[in-house]
Amino acid sequence: DSVFNHLVRAPEDPILGVTVAYNKDPSPVKLNLGVGAYRTEEGKPLVLNVVRKVEQQLINDLSRNKEYIPIVGLADFNKLSAKLIFGADSPAIQENRVTTVQCLSGTGSLRVGGEFLAKHYHQRTIYLPTPTWGNHPKVFNLAGLSVQTYRYYAPATLGLDFEGLLEDLGSAPSGSIVLLHACAHNPTGVDPTLEQWEQIRQLIRSKALLPFFDSAYQGFASGSLDADAQPVRLFVADGGELLVAQSYAKNLGLYGERVGALSIVCKSADVASRVESQLKLVIRPMYSSPPIHGASIVAAILKDSDLFNEWTIELKGMADRIISMRQQLFDALRSRGTPGDWSHIIKQIGMFTFTGLNAKQVSFMTNEYHIYMTSDGRISMAGLSSKTVPLLADAIHAAVT
Ligand code: PLP
Repeated sequence: DSVFNHLVRAPEDPILGVTVAYNKDPSPVKLNLGVGAYRTEEGKPLVLNVVRKVEQQLINDLSRNKEYIPIVGLADFNKLSAKLIFGADSPAIQENRVTTVQCLSGTGSLRVGGEFLAKHYHQRTIYLPTPTWGNHPKVFNLAGLSVQTYRYYAPATLGLDFEGLLEDLGSAPSGSIVLLHACAHNPTGVDPTLEQWEQIRQLIRSKALLPFFDSAYQGFASGSLDADAQPVRLFVADGGELLVAQSYAKNLGLYGERVGALSIVCKSADVASRVESQLKLVIRPMYSSPPIHGASIVAAILKDSDLFNEWTIELKGMADRIISMRQQLFDALRSRGTPGDWSHIIKQIGMFTFTGLNAKQVSFMTNEYHIYMTSDGRISMAGLSSKTVPLLADAIHAAVT
């Protein structure tokens, strides 16, 4: 008899489970809009040319080896990642007030940041927007923080519940941690305007709340790395402290390489160096040190202006294709006379459209049209193509009429 006999079967991950169900469907017209990964117009995963090129160079460079890298990761990668998110001329970087550690993509960066805060920060409550990426509450709970929520999305307007957000953060206990999606909020695709960000910043600073940015889509949202980093830079500019988790999964297509970084902006260089010494104590017993390959690719691209330019062009290409899918889907619903105002499809930003379809409509679309998406009505625009837009529009039309 097994010592694990008492185990009950755990449910599938609600996001990754969509793909599991999709894979089991024998229909030739099936469409997977659940995955948060970019697809080409042909529906294929994309490895950027600039990534292929750098990988070739790395392989041909016989001076390279596979030794362990430091606990905090590659020094060049860390320095350049901080510059990418904070801006090359950021005073916080120039004053050595930033510590950056390479982590296992965005998830690992959030987890390391969460564990560090649970261990060393005086307030152990983190506020997450409603809704948020499904993994956030689990990551922060297991890190040892207690999870609360603040209002973010208003189903009635399919937009931002700005009043609710200000009210909830305004009544959070002083010192609480606040998780903010830096851009392209997942799953809603609804972001505050820069003016609203400025009000959020003032509120957060006046209440001494601690901002923790999740930046999983820099450059992927608008097509501009700088534009997508504006909210973070607004908070750095006031001289206050904050954390940022960066992911290179989407913007460089390095999903499975697990490349990311956690940066903590501190009041002084002295504090930053003590923070870094404690981050090492969080990381060492967790996985000792991060992997070398993906971070070497990123460092090579960020270091070389020609490669960097190549990247920005390819990145803009991905963002533009997604924006064009939004327009095509909107036009297709308009031309079918589908009831409802679908303008949120073109207003929302990033990889996902939060359609407003309910769980019943979603399961109708899956059963009748073999279209797969999360039950909250979130569809990945990256999984769409000009060829599949009509099918999706037909399905949505049928689901709402
Ligand atoms: N944060 C958000 C909001 C995300 O959407 C994702 C990916 O879907 C992540 C973090 C983390 O992704 P990864 O760990 O692959 O970098």
